[in-house]
Amino acid sequence: MIRHLVLFKLGEGVERDDPRVLEGVDAFRSLDGKIPEIRFWELGWNLSDRPIAYDFAINSGFDCLLSNPVVLGEVITHEMGHALGFGHSSETLNESNAALEDATMYFAIHNDGRGASLRDDDMRAARFLYAGPGANETTAPVVSSAVFKPASGKLVVAATHVDGGAKIVVNGVVLSAPVKFKIARGTLVVKGTAAALNIRATGANTVVVRQGGLESNAVSF
Ligand SMILES: [Zn+2]
Repeated sequence: MIRHLVLFKLGEGVERDDPRVLEGVDAFRSLDGKIPEIRFWELGWNLSDRPIAYDFAINSGFDCLLSNPVVLGEVITHEMGHALGFGHSSETLNESNAALEDATMYFAIHNDGRGASLRDDDMRAARFLYAGPGANETTAPVVSSAVFKPASGKLVVAATHVDGGAKIVVNGVVLSAPVKFKIARGTLVVKGTAAALNIRATGANTVVVRQGGLESNAVSF
């Protein structure tokens, strides 16, 4: 919760029963209940005659957006982005470019339940600034072979133009956590049971590899 104490001093010659003052006090009083984030809202005239005292005070408490762990996750991810050297994807309210508006590095908080996650524009920025193997790949991945070894629970996919950010799609389903894969010398090794890897026991299976928005050919195995 964030607390605010706001003190007001009436102007020279303005009395507490001045119609403008009464209207102002009513306006302040009516805010309670109108703003969902207000946790408490107290206001009143000063009763003390100490010379440093002001005339009117509002003592208020607000829900802090950051007490929500999902929101905190988004904010920390955004701030980490700055720490890594990224600027804002856009500082335009109602940005019309969907990718820029969707980025976690957009200047305004989304508060859409994303938490600590990256979007396409963030990932592109990361690949641009921290080029590594497969970074700035503008060529779609190419899959040359795929073999599932049930005994060891390994799907071995030979592919080029891929890096650790690759997404593996088996029979139309993107494999996600807890499925893990390793990549070495153009070979993706995905570990998991046939069920976890969405592999059918009978009939043909297909695998496709996606990398940075580009999709490979489909290979049957
Ligand atoms: Zn920022």
